[in-house]
Amino acid sequence: MTKIAKIIVDIPLMQTDKPFSYEVPEHLLDLVQVGVRVHVPFGKGNRLLQGFVVGLEDADAADLKPIREFLDFEPVLNAEQLLLADQMRHTVFSYKISILKAMLPGLLNSKYDKEFHPLASLSDEERQLYFPKNSPLLASELREELSLKMAELLKAGKVEQVYLAKDRQTIKTQKHYDVNLQLLETLEIAGRAKKRLEMRAWLLENSQSGLLKDLQALYGREVIKFFEDAGALNIREVEVSRAHAYFKDVKSSNFLQLNEEQAAVVEQVTAAIGQASKPFLLEGVTGSGKTEVYLHIIDKVLQQGKTAIVLVPEISLTPQMTNRFISRFGEQVAIMHSGLSDGEKFDEWRKVKSGQAKVVVGARSAIFAPLENIGAIIIDEEHEATYKQESNPRYHARDVAQLRADYHKAVLVMGSATPSIESRARASREVYQFLQLTKRANPNAKIPEVEILDFRDYIGQQEAGNFTPPLLEAIEERLAKKEQVVLMLNRRGFSSFVMCRDCGFVDDCPNCDISLTLHMDTKTMNCHYCGFQKGIPRNCPNCQSPSIRYYGTGTQKAYDELAEIFPQARILRMDVDTTRQKGAHEKLLTKFGNHEADILLGTQMIAKGLDFPNVTLVGVLNADTSLNLPDFRSSERTFQLLTQVAGRAGRADKPGQVYIQTYNPDHYAIQLAKAQDYEAFYQYEMSIRRQLGYPPYYFTVGLTLSHSSEEIAVQKSYEVMGLLRQGLTDKVKLLGPTPKPIARTHNLYHYQILVKYRFEDHLEESLNRILDWTQEKDNQKVRVIIDHEPQNLM
Ligand code: ADP
Ligand code: ZN
Ligand code: ZN
Repeated sequence: MTKIAKIIVDIPLMQTDKPFSYEVPEHLLDLVQVGVRVHVPFGKGNRLLQGFVVGLEDADAADLKPIREFLDFEPVLNAEQLLLADQMRHTVFSYKISILKAMLPGLLNSKYDKEFHPLASLSDEERQLYFPKNSPLLASELREELSLKMAELLKAGKVEQVYLAKDRQTIKTQKHYDVNLQLLETLEIAGRAKKRLEMRAWLLENSQSGLLKDLQALYGREVIKFFEDAGALNIREVEVSRAHAYFKDVKSSNFLQLNEEQAAVVEQVTAAIGQASKPFLLEGVTGSGKTEVYLHIIDKVLQQGKTAIVLVPEISLTPQMTNRFISRFGEQVAIMHSGLSDGEKFDEWRKVKSGQAKVVVGARSAIFAPLENIGAIIIDEEHEATYKQESNPRYHARDVAQLRADYHKAVLVMGSATPSIESRARASREVYQFLQLTKRANPNAKIPEVEILDFRDYIGQQEAGNFTPPLLEAIEERLAKKEQVVLMLNRRGFSSFVMCRDCGFVDDCPNCDISLTLHMDTKTMNCHYCGFQKGIPRNCPNCQSPSIRYYGTGTQKAYDELAEIFPQARILRMDVDTTRQKGAHEKLLTKFGNHEADILLGTQMIAKGLDFPNVTLVGVLNADTSLNLPDFRSSERTFQLLTQVAGRAGRADKPGQVYIQTYNPDHYAIQLAKAQDYEAFYQYEMSIRRQLGYPPYYFTVGLTLSHSSEEIAVQKSYEVMGLLRQGLTDKVKLLGPTPKPIARTHNLYHYQILVKYRFEDHLEESLNRILDWTQEKDNQKVRVIIDHEPQNLM
């Protein structure tokens, strides 16, 4: 009998989307566990790949290849995560390996620069040398050796670029010293050794332990070495968390006394911790104190010895937000978001894995945080599209949350002022439990008044293109009262571009069917899809005319207009250009929070989560741009955005006013945003969805096929349509194939097919069949995306 390991290897292909059997060699028997990473030889060339052990059995092994080495001492994936991957595989149409990798910090996943792993270039003799057979390998030593070897290969030019294990995985440490008092006091030091005497006196007086580098700064290495050699000073290496900076300077804060509505919600939710319960949908108007509710729920969870995950949209993960959690729960909190370096992410992950962190606050992928014994999962701003991952594996954090909540009997709470239509509908059908907060938590804060300004009423009277006279007047008033103003420019589906006034030429990306966006800060024209960049033309590239004009209401232009009209005002601009640098986003917010500026002018990124008491005016410069996009969710998105941004006004004692400028004042999304009536919007939108047969009345799957030849893209799309027709019942509606609204990007033509269904037994099977189809020889050049419940039809 031999020990056999079932291993999922790191090749995202249909043929490899199942565990392969490998023999566990004798000398590695002690190391094998389910959930550890391994290197295994694979395929004809026996190239080495990373893989995960997903199962073990005893059997007679005939001709199985042996595992080459283990990368972990402790499993990096636990049983729950392996189960989760199995469950996700049914609705997320990407391979198991992609799902498993998504659960881990990037540092633990192999990256293959070329087609194969650099280690594959080791000869067997070399391997013998570096991984001697009979010694059980220490994972860290292994990595050390590997990195040396790889450095050597790199130098010899045998591989082009390798990610050195050492660079990638290193755990950051700091040296600490501890004083051995007895030895220090009795140590003999000659009278002329002034420095040594000084250092001893200093240590006795000031410090029994501390950071070695502080001591070095004072007395230098040699003096320290003297004490170390004498045994009076012990030096040890301590692991440091790179994300530690978060926790510095955050003052602790107390729980607020909940109002009646809040208390009722907390009571109902916490009663369900540890019970199998339906998810909760918490609909709470902006400023109703949802975050305070979350904090109380988590407190209860921790009291029960359990743990919690809080998901927040990436853009809302500001220090202002995270500090609310850190100030209550201190070092028990781990923060996970994409702004962290790989090393920091790895540190946070280990903090969670080791049980040190009990509350994870993070963006979408934090849903995979390796917490045990989860008591609550909270999804704030549950309607946000960012909870859906837009690359493989295309999972929705909400679905993963539900699976994890079921496993742990944890409560799942989804909160929003403007829940997604789907979630709200589920609450109607009692699939979710419906909870509401109808009032602002601060009794003096009122829901702001919203007024609509029809651009068309002011044609010819406008001083500046982006601003109607009433809005300018309102701004002036606030400036006089030393109150603050937030202005939002809705840039979805909209950007500045260059057009020739003589021939009408628009400067498009050569690779994509979309105009290039003007960036004044870098003085370039950029494509937001493929990254193409060029200088700003002085003359029309088409007719050479010099009357080329810059169009569009970019934030830069609005900024210039404002600065001209209100030269005394201090204006901050917040958009992709001004927040490119790490930390820039929070610097701007801090500045505004400290009232070092009067006006915050920005894109969508200012709409969320900001809680500044002195803001009494919010202006939306252009409500329309997101309204007319070819996507059935465009009204929903517009309504959500307007409600969110309106919610930034009047959050404390001073009343708030909101102006929305638009060309479509009668559109229901704008009218109902004015009324701040989510429930009415929900009803109306549902009637439209029913008429048109869109979610939540139907489920959808989007398929996108891309190819550099438009002809082939079309032809293959019809082929896939045919396969779907064959496999699916007549109840299913198939739409398309149609070109995507942006028909070409990266020099690829995109066609889409939309599958609409209510119940369909053959769906999974049919879609897996399409996955198989993509592997066929003739189809390998076609890029196929299968997206379950696509959030974005552009
Ligand atoms: P939401 O997340 O629903 O927009 P927040 O949790 O940010 O609302 O709360 C809005 C404001 O009300 C915050 O300044 C918060 O400190 C305050 N707040 C919340 N709950 C209470 C309460 N029970 N009593 C007093 N103030 C509260
Ligand atoms: Zn492009
Ligand atoms: Zn021209």
